[in-house]
Amino acid sequence: MNKLVSGLLLSISVVITSPLMAKGKPFEDKFRQLDELLPTPNTYRTASGAPGHEYWQQEADYKIRVKLDDEKQTLTASETITYKNNSPDTLTYLWLQLDQNRFKRDSLDKTTRTTRLKQSNPKTSFKSMRGLVKSQQHDGGYDITKVTDKNGRDLPYIINDTMMRIDLPTGLKPHGQFVFNIDWNYHIREQKVLGGRSGYEYFKEDENYLYEIAQWFPRMAAYYDVYGWQNKQFLGNGEFALEFGDYDVEITVPSDHIVASTGELQNPRSVLTSAQRKRLEKAKYADKPVIIVSEEEATEKEKTKSSKMKTWRFKAENVRDFAWASSRKFIWDAQGYTEGGIDTMAMSYYPKEGNPLWERYSTEAIIHTIEHYNKYSLQYPYPVSISVNGPVGGMEYPMITFNGPRPKVDKKTGEKTYSKRTKYGLIGVIIHEVGHNYYPMIVNSDERQWTWMDEGLNTFVQFLAEQAWEEKYPSRRGPARKIVNYMKSSHQVPIMTNSESILQFGNNAYGKPATALNILRETIMGRELFDFAFKEYAERWKFKRPTPADFFRTLEDASAVDLDWFIRGWFYTTDHVDISLDRVTKMHIGSQDPEVEKAWDREQFNKEPADISDLRNQGMPVRTDKKPELLDFYNEHDKFTVTNHDRNKYNSSQKKLEDWQLELLNNGSNIYTVDFSNKGGLVMPIILQVKYADGSDEVLRISAQIWRKNTVKVSKMLITDKAIKEIVLDPYWETADVDVNNNYWPTRVIESRLELYKRKKSKSLMEKYNEKLKTDDDADKETDAKNEDKEAA
Ligand SMILES: [Zn+2]
Repeated sequence: MNKLVSGLLLSISVVITSPLMAKGKPFEDKFRQLDELLPTPNTYRTASGAPGHEYWQQEADYKIRVKLDDEKQTLTASETITYKNNSPDTLTYLWLQLDQNRFKRDSLDKTTRTTRLKQSNPKTSFKSMRGLVKSQQHDGGYDITKVTDKNGRDLPYIINDTMMRIDLPTGLKPHGQFVFNIDWNYHIREQKVLGGRSGYEYFKEDENYLYEIAQWFPRMAAYYDVYGWQNKQFLGNGEFALEFGDYDVEITVPSDHIVASTGELQNPRSVLTSAQRKRLEKAKYADKPVIIVSEEEATEKEKTKSSKMKTWRFKAENVRDFAWASSRKFIWDAQGYTEGGIDTMAMSYYPKEGNPLWERYSTEAIIHTIEHYNKYSLQYPYPVSISVNGPVGGMEYPMITFNGPRPKVDKKTGEKTYSKRTKYGLIGVIIHEVGHNYYPMIVNSDERQWTWMDEGLNTFVQFLAEQAWEEKYPSRRGPARKIVNYMKSSHQVPIMTNSESILQFGNNAYGKPATALNILRETIMGRELFDFAFKEYAERWKFKRPTPADFFRTLEDASAVDLDWFIRGWFYTTDHVDISLDRVTKMHIGSQDPEVEKAWDREQFNKEPADISDLRNQGMPVRTDKKPELLDFYNEHDKFTVTNHDRNKYNSSQKKLEDWQLELLNNGSNIYTVDFSNKGGLVMPIILQVKYADGSDEVLRISAQIWRKNTVKVSKMLITDKAIKEIVLDPYWETADVDVNNNYWPTRVIESRLELYKRKKSKSLMEKYNEKLKTDDDADKETDAKNEDKEAA
């Protein structure tokens, strides 16, 4: 069913199907239901895609005390975890994730990374070589100093790369809970050098550090009905599978630092000035961001370098993770947002290096994100939403996000400018990372298994939110036409591939699923059905852990659109869309009247080109010129001559016809059959723009089910009063058809440009030897000119 096919002027007859398969080639049923690929529904997860009546999930609450050493860039902490076993199973051990261990020198990730240098001409950037060398020197990973039960007794444990197993003294029964402590410390990484999703940035001009701290504490691995313990090792791409819980975190930092964190600040009186608290109060109901710490105040603080410490205490409820940032460089602005009775403080923290971009766009972008994600997904439930500017390019945690883009500073004049790319990159990344609060921070999919479930869905809603920011916002992902190059590339794997094995990560897990959802919305299901089903999924699975099957099943369950063919093609294969409009045949209904039909036959015969010999024989003397007596009846009449026999036959046949049959014979409609072939493999709707001879046109939308009996070739009959002049297949480029040159009848000429260039002569060794030596100034001028060229591009 396709809601979009309605109200058409054209009357359409049944599909003319060609034989089911080419000889010898088995018929591939692209509409076969997915049941055999999806897990069997049960009491935890229903066949409709909703949580079942016995759905359960574990809970982990954390109390953490952590100290930041700004001199040595280390964290030292002690945490207490209360693990609640809501499963029907008795657990004899617990698994924890030690993400920092990925940065140990002998980690599975580090030792299995491959190099992709070209053998013939090995090349790499200074930056990536520095990263490789420094990461060999960096002493990363956790130093676990103590693991005890709540009474201080040591617990046996074993560390396997990024996973730690704690063996329980007695089995943890269903509905039981286990409380234990872990003490640990680690060296924070210099993010700009070593990469990663967290770390510090060092500003050499003012000798200050900015810390973005995440995946910083041992976290409970997920235990759930589909996988048991999700203890697949962290190799860098499969992010996190985590449990919801409550957090109480005390963060001790230099007293002149400002801390941004998941959760609500519990002790503003001991860490904020009264002016800051007043400004925060004012921000609650402000209609634009209110400055809490100004650029001047932050710049002043850059110099204080306090050696005293202060403790910031935050609490967060029902979150799956906890992250924070700290620096004396932070400028801070805030603006309250209220929807559905929930007050949220949108806040941005950034060094002066982020201005003027950050004060103008960051907090505004946070609020814009919440507004639009609420509309398409679920209501944002948390008291704060934060965007921090630091070394990390873009990363998400509950209530807090790290976003990288900054303006460029001219080293000589100090003037700050930014490119269009940086501006939209910043707005886009903030929308994306804040959007992750919904997927996967609330709709808690298993990131270690499926990257697309959070990145793809989030990138899709990001596109919707971006388009609501300004007219024709330059979104990188979402529109079908932007995925075409990826779809036709050969180096790819299906979307349904484990996070650590994905090729072309961004295209596979962000771009393709986001585009697929956009196509479902605009082309397959229509906005009304899609938006309802998509929101239904978010509502069903908020604060729960969905799997791909739950998503697929919900989309169908809430819309009555059979999507198995679409999911099969787009999520389980690497086929692409290339439908070709092969041929158009024009027909009229034969009148059976020999006077009319034989004349028409003669007309067609006369349209045939002359025989080459006939042409050249013109004027050649022939025998009958000299002897006309040789000509007879057959020289006057041919097969197109209407005979009395024809007329008698016509008269008697007409008498046998009923009135409605006679009417059809004189119908006079234009009948066209249009032949299509599927060259790309993916079955998709056929969207036709039909242009008529009288200048009018209309768009005809035919559901993908047209391919259900033959996935390779189909023909469609169009019956119309008006003559058709032109047909365009996929006129809005909405199906990601990779070759639109076969989408036109009549065929269009392909326009292209042939560029001419001058050949450059290279300098000889003698010329180079004799060249004048350049001063440093000359060299500077040269790099400046080169940089300007780059910027212009
Ligand atoms: Zn993302």
